[in-house]
Amino acid sequence: MSNQRQRALDVVQKRTTDRVNAPSDKISDFFAADVFDMNKMRSALAPETFSKVQSAINKGKKIDVETANQIASAVKTWALSKGITHYTHWFQPLTGSTAEKHDSFFNAQKGVEILKGSALIQQEPDASSFPNGGIRSTFEARGYTAWDPSSPIFIWGRTLCIPTVFVSYTGEALDYKTPLLKASDAINKTATKVCQMFDRNVNGMSISLGCEQEYFVIDRALYNARPDLVMAGRTVFGHHPARGQQLDDHYFGSIPSRVYNYMKDFEIECLKLGIPVSTRHNEVAPSQFEVAPLFEDINVATDHNSLMMDVMDRVAERHSLKVLFHEKPFAGLNGSGKHNNWSLITSTGVNVFQPSSSAKENLQFLTFLVNTIKAIHDNAGLLRASIASAGNDHRLGANEAPPAIMSVFLGSQLTAVLDALENNGDLQVDKGDNMYMKLGIDKIPEIILDNTDRNRTSPFAFTGNKFEFRAVGSDQNVAEPMTVLNLIVAKQLKEFHENVTQRIEKGEDKKIAIVNELRGYIKASKAIRFEGDGYSQDWETEAEKRGLPNVKQSARALDAYVTDDAKALFEDFNVMSALELEARNEIQHENYIMKLQIEARLISELGMTQVVPAAIRYQSKLMANGSALKDFGLDNSHVKTILEKVNGHINTIQTQVVEMNKERGEVNKIENTRDRAIAYSDRIKGKYFDAIRVAVDKLELLLDDEDWPLLKYREMLFLR
Ligand code: ADP
Ligand code: MG
Repeated sequence: MSNQRQRALDVVQKRTTDRVNAPSDKISDFFAADVFDMNKMRSALAPETFSKVQSAINKGKKIDVETANQIASAVKTWALSKGITHYTHWFQPLTGSTAEKHDSFFNAQKGVEILKGSALIQQEPDASSFPNGGIRSTFEARGYTAWDPSSPIFIWGRTLCIPTVFVSYTGEALDYKTPLLKASDAINKTATKVCQMFDRNVNGMSISLGCEQEYFVIDRALYNARPDLVMAGRTVFGHHPARGQQLDDHYFGSIPSRVYNYMKDFEIECLKLGIPVSTRHNEVAPSQFEVAPLFEDINVATDHNSLMMDVMDRVAERHSLKVLFHEKPFAGLNGSGKHNNWSLITSTGVNVFQPSSSAKENLQFLTFLVNTIKAIHDNAGLLRASIASAGNDHRLGANEAPPAIMSVFLGSQLTAVLDALENNGDLQVDKGDNMYMKLGIDKIPEIILDNTDRNRTSPFAFTGNKFEFRAVGSDQNVAEPMTVLNLIVAKQLKEFHENVTQRIEKGEDKKIAIVNELRGYIKASKAIRFEGDGYSQDWETEAEKRGLPNVKQSARALDAYVTDDAKALFEDFNVMSALELEARNEIQHENYIMKLQIEARLISELGMTQVVPAAIRYQSKLMANGSALKDFGLDNSHVKTILEKVNGHINTIQTQVVEMNKERGEVNKIENTRDRAIAYSDRIKGKYFDAIRVAVDKLELLLDDEDWPLLKYREMLFLR
């Protein structure tokens, strides 16, 4: 057997399971031990200083230098007491991972450990090494990171990490967090105003997010033996195994012990970091799993998701495992996504997406439900763009994950409620009438979603007391789709508030005005509601009839970010300028191109240097055997048949690789980044990737197992 493949398999046979023990049986003993959280701040800071931090967090107030110095000093003392010598500003640049640059507390001149308030508040990492989409001309290669006090400081590894935003000197956002904070602020304002129509005591909203994270785990030696996994995060070749996921036996089955210990280990690390991980289970595909923390404030949840992915990656090393976050590491098997559970909770503690026993709260519930649906309807293209990536292209529209068509699932009970509201016509409400009863919204039963009502094929589903955006890619920073979601709903709520106010000014009763406005939205946004099977061909046809966008390729979906409407929307709410949108668009297209470029190179290299040579070796064996059979006067036609098949596939691979590389030369010359990205999608990926893969995968089924150079799916997915 091929050396590389055999060696990797030998290593795996000898693996043992490392048992993992938690620091204590009680999670509360170590939860957030590595976080400089409110409790630690309260006890470390003078009361006045602490209350200044609190108002910075809750009201976004600026922190003065003196306060910053006191906080910095307290943080440093805490870190030193835990044996930590370095600190870093921790941020999420547009590369997609997290970034840090470590500085020592030790000041050699003074001979002591120091953390100044100014260093806590602001740093200047060299921004030129991060993508900026051409925002900075070369002479202005500076950017700075600024502390975000609303996300707690933590210790990860041997370093004190200070969550920050990352912006250019001219003020443009160079990270994911800045626009998210601004969009959250926008929805906070407009949602609060809408809530005040129902309850004057509401003075703010908290936006909640809980991310379910899917991932694959494979042995590290096996991972290292597949150059495509190492370089591209996904296998560009590989026939799916005889036993894939058709038995559905992996889902909710028992977790293999090595993976179980890995999970336990990274969960402990997460808990120490204050990430409230709570559920773990197997996913649909072999070797696929899911982890979900409890929901938190959207900014913290977003930081936590990035941090958790980093923790999962590093802890996997200890267990000689590799965690894969790619949206589609293995063709033919389920891909990985991130389900974003999202809701809005008032300062008085009411989840506006929770149907209630109070009629008044139900009208508020319907207001938010219908406005969200309307926002998705009006901005489906933008929402689709927010989850665009080369990796996610393999999931969306691949008939096993949410399709590229955005739609909203409500379940039968709520559908009936909205239908009734729609058909009620203009209400006549007389004095003394119970309007809620007349409208049929005096009581909306608590939505109990049984499994039949839980449509897993919907990209945007209402799940009882929250919406769940399921089309988000597993490798993605969730800040991007959450920025868009917050923004489009913010805009919709603003419009709603204005329209209802106008109606009231014209003399309509407030409740009637609200209901009439909602009725208009229900009608206008009906096309986006879909209760059926989102994976089916019928839905694609139906969606087209309804005029819903269905942009399968991310390179094209990204256009929605730079339309005049999108620019106006982002600018109106001060989330991003047209320039920032253009820059991000450029970065995303570049990124898309780079991903496909790497894959194309891998396909050509692995195809020509591993697969074809193996096939030729096998051909020689066949030819020797065929000639020998002939010498003995025996029938050798079966040998000839195999030879012909092998020959055909070699020929396909060889000619297609040559063609692809030639065409790549042409495509690379296209100046405009967007056009080049689309050309990569249509002319390189679309034309050649599958054609070559089919030939390679057929060879995998023909060649002597001994000769096959690449680890097979069954070996990667079922051995542990
Ligand atoms: P599922 O059955 O889809 O796995 P769960 O009830 O387990 O759903 O919740 C999945 C995620 O949704 C968890 O992260 C959970 O904390 C989160 N979640 C629950 N309620 C809310 C809410 N009101 N807002 C946001 N996220 C929520
Ligand atoms: Mg879910």
